[in-house]
Amino acid sequence: MLSVIIPAYNEEKCIRRAYIAIHSLLAENNIDSEFIFVNDGSQDQTYKMITELSGEKENIIGLNFSRNFGKESAISAGLAAANGDCAVVIDCDLQHPPEKIVEMYRLWEQGYEIVEGIKKERGQEKKMHSIGAKIFYSVISRMAGFDMANSSDFKLLDRKVVDVINNMPERGFFRAISYWVGYKKATVEYDVNMRVDGESKWSTRGLVKYAISNISSYSTAPMQIVTALGFVMLVISVIFSVWALIDKIIGRALEGMTTVIIITIFIGSIIMISLGIIGYYIARIYEEIKGRPKYIISSTVKSAKKNFIAVEQYK
Ligand code: UDP
Ligand code: MG
Repeated sequence: MLSVIIPAYNEEKCIRRAYIAIHSLLAENNIDSEFIFVNDGSQDQTYKMITELSGEKENIIGLNFSRNFGKESAISAGLAAANGDCAVVIDCDLQHPPEKIVEMYRLWEQGYEIVEGIKKERGQEKKMHSIGAKIFYSVISRMAGFDMANSSDFKLLDRKVVDVINNMPERGFFRAISYWVGYKKATVEYDVNMRVDGESKWSTRGLVKYAISNISSYSTAPMQIVTALGFVMLVISVIFSVWALIDKIIGRALEGMTTVIIITIFIGSIIMISLGIIGYYIARIYEEIKGRPKYIISSTVKSAKKNFIAVEQYK
């Protein structure tokens, strides 16, 4: 059985459409499935839509978060609730083409343990966002040591991988974790569709925050930059000291206070930036060490009807 995990935040219009599109496709291809909708603290009727749907259809699980915890947490909750032999994570807005799930599933049947969706083209995004995304991915790819450009959360994972990810205590970045774990991988290319309804949940500020937090959770490179800066400063200070000494010896006094002020301010700002970077890592350690749950589920719904009951009736 394939678990379809769908994080949803203010997607009341998309729930039913996503279910119908994906479910009919899987049914046509004889792929047994369950659907796990995670309502990530929506302010609209998303959870009501999920509840209604689960009353009508089989094999639907709805998890309702107590507030908005973010897509990463929603994915974690979905993976923890998945019962399938493999699980696929897909956006509710159908920007990830559902027909690719079938292709992914066939690859899984051939023995691949992680099938990644790779974006051929980013759909229509704000100019700012696509530039931002480009910079973000090139930075994070370089820092984290693997190419993450064009990767997305659209992935199919084998049960083994789901179990491994479920047992990881850290707050991760799903894309990077599923890369980090290794396993036999295959990729499927897809074009990003237009969002069918509603709007993107990402603000530019949100994206920047997301970028910084992900870079810091996958790389200690910024801290190494601090060390590198220290060495550069050392070299500069040696040059300046020699220069100042020579001036002193030959009896030529240095130019007034300006030099001193510039140097002091320069060193001061480098130290502050460095402290900031280190502080950021300490904050992350603090976050992790508190050990708070990644999400809180306030209620769940499950379809009363189960596939196996239906099968029993036919016997
Ligand atoms: N999403 C979520 N929690 C959030 C933001 C988004 O669960 O805090 C879900 C959203 O409902 C959708 C998916 O994550 O299913 C992708 O979100 P969106 O389409 O807004 O992002 P984009 O496609 O613009 O990257
Ligand atoms: Mg989207």
